[in-house]
Amino acid sequence: MEKLSCDVIVVGAGNAALCAALSAQEQGASVMVLERAPQDKRGGNSAFTGGGFRTVYNGLDDIKTIVPDITEEEIANSDFGQYTLENYLDDLGRITQYHTDPDLAETLASCSTDTIRWLRSKGIRFQLKYGRQAFKHEGRFKFWAGIIIAASGGGRGLVDAQFKAAEKLGIPVRYNAHATELLRGPAGVEGVRVLLDGVEREIRANAVVLACGGFEANREWRARYLGAGWDLAKVRGSRYNTGDGIRMAIDIGAQPYGQWSGCHSVSWERHAPDFGYVDAHTTHTSGERHCYQFSIMVNAEGRRFVDEGADFRNFTYAKYGRIVLQQPGSFAWQVFDTQGTPYLRDEYKAKGTTKVRADTLEELADRMEDVDGTQFLKTVREYNAAIKREVAFNPNIKDGLCTVGLPINKSNWATPIEKPPFEAYSVGTGITFTFGGIKIDPTTRVLDMADTPLPGLYAAGELVGGIFYFNYPGASGLMNGSVFGRIAGREAGSYARGNRKPI
Ligand SMILES: Cc1cc2nc3c(=O)[nH]c(=O)nc-3n(C[C@H](O)[C@H](O)[C@H](O)COP(=O)(O)OP(=O)(O)OC[C@H]3O[C@@H](n4cnc5c(N)ncnc54)[C@H](O)[C@@H]3O)c2cc1C
Repeated sequence: MEKLSCDVIVVGAGNAALCAALSAQEQGASVMVLERAPQDKRGGNSAFTGGGFRTVYNGLDDIKTIVPDITEEEIANSDFGQYTLENYLDDLGRITQYHTDPDLAETLASCSTDTIRWLRSKGIRFQLKYGRQAFKHEGRFKFWAGIIIAASGGGRGLVDAQFKAAEKLGIPVRYNAHATELLRGPAGVEGVRVLLDGVEREIRANAVVLACGGFEANREWRARYLGAGWDLAKVRGSRYNTGDGIRMAIDIGAQPYGQWSGCHSVSWERHAPDFGYVDAHTTHTSGERHCYQFSIMVNAEGRRFVDEGADFRNFTYAKYGRIVLQQPGSFAWQVFDTQGTPYLRDEYKAKGTTKVRADTLEELADRMEDVDGTQFLKTVREYNAAIKREVAFNPNIKDGLCTVGLPINKSNWATPIEKPPFEAYSVGTGITFTFGGIKIDPTTRVLDMADTPLPGLYAAGELVGGIFYFNYPGASGLMNGSVFGRIAGREAGSYARGNRKPI
């Protein structure tokens, strides 16, 4: 029978896990990756992403080390600015209402650029995120709000490159491998119990890295910890992240940490399937409705309920899903006129989009059947009348084109809704990932209730609590998984090889 043991077991096969596996191997450790999904569904939420990474960069010289094929034309036409360590930490602090764990936040931000270069050394390629993070305005691009790069090929491209790197190094990945329990012995964690193709087995190891996601795909835990209504939210990504890693760790004494009632959630195609989907007509991101800052959003009562232009999209989209969920019927409509529609991303045209279009606002109101049409027309009239029209529109900056005197003002990009044809898109709530999890120290050792490390146990990625609260600065999830995954692999690999006798 095949020998089921190794130095380091990595549970999960998303970005955090694959970084951990590649990094543990650098320590000379024998590594085994256990992925619950079948091979064709591998890669977790990471595979569903647009591949955006929030990283520190101090101007063009840093960018050139990450995207060496940047062209002279791109350099001439673009304002890249910079995103310093201080900017990163300020954003993490401000966006999380200063709850973020300072040591974890510092590690995430300060290791970001070096980790991107390390990923490059493993064969992952990056490109500049034109269009989505820098609009062409008056002939020039200007990047805003901290995201400048994405992995080539998006999330799928990222994980495929990571799997390829793992394969090249001979790291085995076991699919249909559902970890269910951590094994303990005198020296601490000594392996995992796992269902391999449905058959229970034990796999022995000197160290285990948990990187198997949050509990966003667990309907019952969502209702239990996030609250009423969350059981009905749509899952944007993997169906396999049901909180197993968190439960397994807590079962042996790990400390629950972070905001268990909080999650990343967005405006999402209202009639999307229950889990992330992709087919011949749709991509992983087809359900996204991230251009609301150029719209007004109304609820079933025909009223606006949020400041659509409060900040750059990167700093609001992850908390607006919750606000949509709280509306009557848990849905809303994003309404655009021809000044907003040029900024709509491709996914607004995806098959399966719930959309209405009309040449007059009255017709539009009729077509949004579940909205109070009379109140909707009043809302639009009042909104248009409240706009400070003397301010110039600029999508690349917080332009101050706002409304004045409304119960809920729009702070930026408040173009009027008056030029037909009008388009409206219906959205519900898509949950991305959960914020609560287990506690680690900056070297990724899992801590117990007294903040003492549990020997042999490391964790990285979504299942770690304490970094994000209430909201999330866009594109820090992949960076978080890469930074802490790399550290977890290094620490677990070195522990398994050095500090502990093989079992
Ligand atoms: C649609 C979408 C778009 C996004 N876009 C971005 C973006 O552009 N930039 C960004 O930074 N973040 C983005 N995110 C967030 C990002 O996906 C996550 O922050 C990040 O991918 C989490 O990585 P992870 O490795 O912790 O988890 P995952 O990538 O979800 O990996 C978890 C793995 O664990 C496996 N698993 C679960 N349970 C078990 C078990 N019991 N045994 C074995 N394996 C198990 C799963 O199958 C999966 O492979 C997006 C998310 C979604 C859903």
